[in-house]
Amino acid sequence: LKIYDVSLTITPSLPVWPGDPQVDLHRVSKMEDGAVCNISHLTLGVHTGTHVDAPYHFLPNGGRVDALPLEALIGPALVLEVPETCTAIGAAELHAAGLPGRVERVLFKSRNSNLWSSEKEFYREFVAILPDAAEMLVATGVRLVGMDYLSVAPFNNAVRTHEILLGAGVVLLEGLNLADVPAGLYTLYCLPLKLGGADGAPARTVLIGA
Ligand SMILES: [Zn+2]
Repeated sequence: LKIYDVSLTITPSLPVWPGDPQVDLHRVSKMEDGAVCNISHLTLGVHTGTHVDAPYHFLPNGGRVDALPLEALIGPALVLEVPETCTAIGAAELHAAGLPGRVERVLFKSRNSNLWSSEKEFYREFVAILPDAAEMLVATGVRLVGMDYLSVAPFNNAVRTHEILLGAGVVLLEGLNLADVPAGLYTLYCLPLKLGGADGAPARTVLIGA
């Protein structure tokens, strides 16, 4: 078994969505200063790094992150790669990538994944899913859709893609780093923090290959 850690490391230098809280992670108790142990304080937005979106993120009466079904978050997942030349995933690109007729979890690997090793600023031109592809994913019966940047939806058109997917009960997993993961079938383990009533949560996420 090979375990792929597809989670981003949360540090103060990790890019965040413009306007979201910056990560603050610092020790408030230091052994070198005489404390009996080290203790860190953490401040962050719930959509920081690798994280899930709950329906409540875009739907006023939608479910909260602590109520997401674990059955959607754990199980077989297809890493579907789109070409380096792909700038947005519409229905045509999805068709070309070879979306199977029946798949429960799809994680998109795009050129976005290359950004994580170098980019220190938020990148607005990331590859994202267009509404017509979102409709196609819902029609396929997916339960979870993953993307390798901080949103499944384009920077300047965030609402519709989120509404279609979250409205259909699809769990969104954002901020994946799939740079080292070959396309193919894996077992996904995505375990978001159990934040009461929240619209999203950071999630340590791994893929296990055969
Ligand atoms: Zn999010």
